[in-house]
Amino acid sequence: MHKIAVLPGDGIGAEIVPQAVKVLDTISRKYGYKFSYTEGLIGGAAIDAVGKPLPEETLKLCQESEAILLGAVGGPKWDHLPVAMRPEAAALLPLRKALGLYANIRPAYLYPALAEASTLKREVVLGTDLVTIRELTGGLYFGEKKREKTATGEVAMDTLVYTTEEIERITRLAFEVARARRKKVTSVDKANVLESSRLWRETITRVHEEFPDVELEHMYVDNAAMQLVRRPTQFDVIVTENMFGDILTDQASMLTGSIGMLPSASIGGKVALYEPSHGSAPDIAGQNKANPLATILSAAMMLKYSFGYSEAAREIEQAVEKVLDLGYRTPDIMEEGKTLVDTVTMGDLVCRHLEDV
Ligand code: NAD
Repeated sequence: MHKIAVLPGDGIGAEIVPQAVKVLDTISRKYGYKFSYTEGLIGGAAIDAVGKPLPEETLKLCQESEAILLGAVGGPKWDHLPVAMRPEAAALLPLRKALGLYANIRPAYLYPALAEASTLKREVVLGTDLVTIRELTGGLYFGEKKREKTATGEVAMDTLVYTTEEIERITRLAFEVARARRKKVTSVDKANVLESSRLWRETITRVHEEFPDVELEHMYVDNAAMQLVRRPTQFDVIVTENMFGDILTDQASMLTGSIGMLPSASIGGKVALYEPSHGSAPDIAGQNKANPLATILSAAMMLKYSFGYSEAAREIEQAVEKVLDLGYRTPDIMEEGKTLVDTVTMGDLVCRHLEDV
């Protein structure tokens, strides 16, 4: 029995997570796998219910589970709260830290059927198949922060800190992931300006000696941002620090048509966390319009990375591809001549095709 913590969170989280659970149920029936789900509160929903964005009970549930399936947190209702109470800062960051999830793996794969849904030209995006590995528990988001009054106004400070150990472990992961793919790693930094980037580059170059079969290139983050939209097919595995990764992964998401298509896995500790790359989409929440495919594909990553069920994971990806090939689209990826479906129907279609695969 695989124990899965299910945290729908806020906004569209409550709509998309049940679609992924439905897909896991279909897989469990097909393969005889046994999953148990325990739901927990997180984010704004937890603030409303118990006054805290990450209740101890939820953290305990996560620590005692084998894997976590998360929807999204946050929304305008909680935007006025101080940072220490905000769902994103006070739920996701401490959860990642407590579970030791130092690496975020985000594939950006363009389903050929969605080439027209990308904002870039078809010939530029066709063939895009990259994975970004973002360091998740260091850097600017976790360094010391300060804000003080001065004679003329205020001064604010954020600190960007990285240690050799933090860089080494994410680098090894990137090389290992690349080994199972097209064997190329692009390390993204700003070594021409930042000291932390210089340590990053030196460390990666040293660790590369352990992986002579994998090609390594270094790229400045400004150039990487440009190359991602100029020729995205040049990338296989991108490895980068926390803030650069935050920005580049959202940019990469547009290559694939919609942020609603992009899954992610956060790994490193005993328990891994799987969630779509997008947020709680308050603008469409509660309308059965959200694209559930990123969450469904996150569940596929769970099967592969946490349980070692690679074949079942591949089947989910194939079922998604089939549904898209047949022309079914949620509003975010809709094009002329295709069939518009809602969140629940998209989940049902993937399940139906899984039964057929
Ligand atoms: P967002 O990702 O929620 O939405 C950006 C845009 O993409 C919106 O137009 C939204 O409708 C659309 N979108 C997102 N997911 C979609 C889906 N599955 N299907 C169809 N369309 C989708 O980002 P935002 O608007 O910047 O943030 C909204 C809230 O979510 C904020 O409170 C933010 O802090 C939070 N957030 C949470 C996470 C997380 O939980 N990991 C990540 C990012 C943002």
